[in-house]
Amino acid sequence: MTYVLAIDIGGTKLAAALVDEEGAVLRSATRPTPGEQVMAALGGLVDEVTGDGPAPVAVGIGCAGPLDRGTVSPVNMPSWRRFPLRDEVRALTGLPTVLAGDAQCMALGEHWLGAGRGSSALLGVVVSTGIGGGLVIGGRPLLGPTGNAGHVGHMTVDPYGERCECGGRGCVERYASGPNMTRWALENGWRPGAEHPETARPDARMLARDAADGDPVAVAAFERGATALAGMIASTAAAAEVSTVVVGGGVSGAGPVLFEPLARALDDVGGLAFVRAVRVRPTTLGVRAGLAGAAKLAWDYSRSAS
Ligand SMILES: [Zn+2]
Repeated sequence: MTYVLAIDIGGTKLAAALVDEEGAVLRSATRPTPGEQVMAALGGLVDEVTGDGPAPVAVGIGCAGPLDRGTVSPVNMPSWRRFPLRDEVRALTGLPTVLAGDAQCMALGEHWLGAGRGSSALLGVVVSTGIGGGLVIGGRPLLGPTGNAGHVGHMTVDPYGERCECGGRGCVERYASGPNMTRWALENGWRPGAEHPETARPDARMLARDAADGDPVAVAAFERGATALAGMIASTAAAAEVSTVVVGGGVSGAGPVLFEPLARALDDVGGLAFVRAVRVRPTTLGVRAGLAGAAKLAWDYSRSAS
């Protein structure tokens, strides 16, 4: 049996696993992402996973973006700016190494083993602190010339809308990310329910609970976010004939308070028959999707290289 080494790098957690050709995990480990010396921590993690086990044949890495031809500058990891991650991991392991964005890996993982299996054109969306995405077209990830294809969180759904942190205007993320829905709800009179201690910072999880309990402002915040997501999904479906959308990320755990208004909004904004035919599904792999996608990336790379 042969394996690849899959690595998933996020702002709070590093994860690695040895994965076989069917997607089964032989062993895996995680550790917190340190503020600096991230490569040292990653080296320790790789040792822990590969240890005295079988030697992997290739490495696939998913990392928060933006990316640029093998370098990464994750927004929430200030110590890495244009950091040559692919080459560093190649030097660390001595193996063929391939890199993609974390949400691109999520999409690829869901296509391989999750809710997007069999889809000829898939969009994966991660709704969390920010909004990320990835496309898998004809079974292959669409990465783009510098590695940034699929950044659907920064598609404009309202050109007259609010300024986004990215510098753009009217981006989906400004309406539908967890912190932005929470911010909007607070600005519009949402007061987290009595069961939440006063000291706790209001967040999207509390907002989802209150929306499920029928709080009108919380419900409206999710409807507003879902409508922005629907605009992005319909536009992406129109551009790439996407047939399946898999939605993951922490905010997707809100369930019906997100997915029901999303279905209604898609029914409203979608026009052409192939756009209206798009199917939206929640993630089935959850937090494991990124690692699965990184493994698939490595398998495809090792086959194309041999
Ligand atoms: Zn933006």
